[in-house]
Formats: sequence, structure tokens, C-alpha cells
Amino acid sequence: MARYTGPASKLCRREGQHLYIKGFKCGTGKCGLDRRQYPPGHQGPAGARRRKQSDYAVQLREKQKVKRIYGLQEKQFRNLFGYAASRAGVTGGNLVVALEIRLDNVVFRLGLASSRRQARQLVSHGHVLVNGSRVDVASYRLSAGDEVALQERSRDLELVAANLESRLRPPLPDWLALDEKKRVGRVLRVPMRGDIPLPAQEQLIVELYSK
Ligand SMILES: [Zn+2]
Repeated sequence: MARYTGPASKLCRREGQHLYIKGFKCGTGKCGLDRRQYPPGHQGPAGARRRKQSDYAVQLREKQKVKRIYGLQEKQFRNLFGYAASRAGVTGGNLVVALEIRLDNVVFRLGLASSRRQARQLVSHGHVLVNGSRVDVASYRLSAGDEVALQERSRDLELVAANLESRLRPPLPDWLALDEKKRVGRVLRVPMRGDIPLPAQEQLIVELYSK
């Protein structure tokens, strides 16, 4: 698979903002961007001074950024865009919501995993149940009312306990509920764009794909 497996902090530096691919570590002084605030491959801040970017370049960077934040490959991302465009409402907002209600993202938002990358592993290794059944597909699309839990044998995973106890753990979004002790989460409602703390201008992605 063509998934990027290199240093996650290089991606933060490329985009000039934390993508939280390393999860809790981002923005706490432990990410490469916290130390070097210029893109990778440059000899220093001076080397990074760039020409004014074209519209296309700006749109492309925005798409790459969002794609990397959620850890999708181009084809998956493009397919999700097609789905978002086919739905009623604003395509860009639909896209962000569709990314947000993926199973791997919800496992991350619940705090069971410290990054989406780790969440994806929990799901693909079969640790996660949706409404009582094992679902090992990270892209699984959740609905309002769905219960997201860990397999009984996985409930005591040290990694999960450490994540839930981490002081770096972001607050639980108000469209999700979590019983920490039982490791059971619930989707109270499908989030709206305004519920999602994603530093992106998704309209630029719509423009890019509409060319
Ligand atoms: Zn970072």
C-alpha cells in the first residue's frame, strides 16, 4: 500500500501547522514543527521563503493537508469527495463530516487511541466493536446512535488505559459520549461542520476537484 510511513512530524512541517498525525504529541513541543518552523528539505528558515503560490498550488496543499490529517490515500479521499458531492448541502462541509464519522476517527476522538494512525490499528486488528459486532474496517461510516466499544479481551489494553489517562488528551466532543470504565462510546448525533476542529478551508478542495 502507498501509505506514507515516514516521520509524521515532517508532514506538520510541510504544511506549516500541526496535523496531529502523532496525536497527542503534536503541539506539545514533541513534534518536529515545534523545533523547526520551516518545511523539510530546506537549509533553514531563509531557504523556505517561497514564491507566491498559484491558486492550484494553494488548493493542492489544502487537499494534501486534510488527506494527511485523516490518514487517507488519494483514491479513498477522492471517493469520499464523490460521496460528499452527491449529498444534499455544501460539498465541502459534507466532506469534513464524512471524514469525521469514520470509525477510526471516532476511536481517536473518544480518546481510546492517541492518534488516528493508532486508532486505525486498533480497528484493523479487530479490537473494536460497533453495536456489538466486530468491525475491522477503518473507513466504516457511523450513524447517530451507534455504540463503539472494545472487545472484551481488549478492554484492559495498557495502551488504551494510558491514552484515557493522558493529560494531553483533548476534550470529548459533545456529539460523542464515553463510559471510560467500560470503554464504551456512543455517537449521540452526526456532527456538523461547526463541531469539527479542523483548521482547513475545505472550499479550496472543492475548487481543486471541480476543475
Ligand atoms: Zn505536529
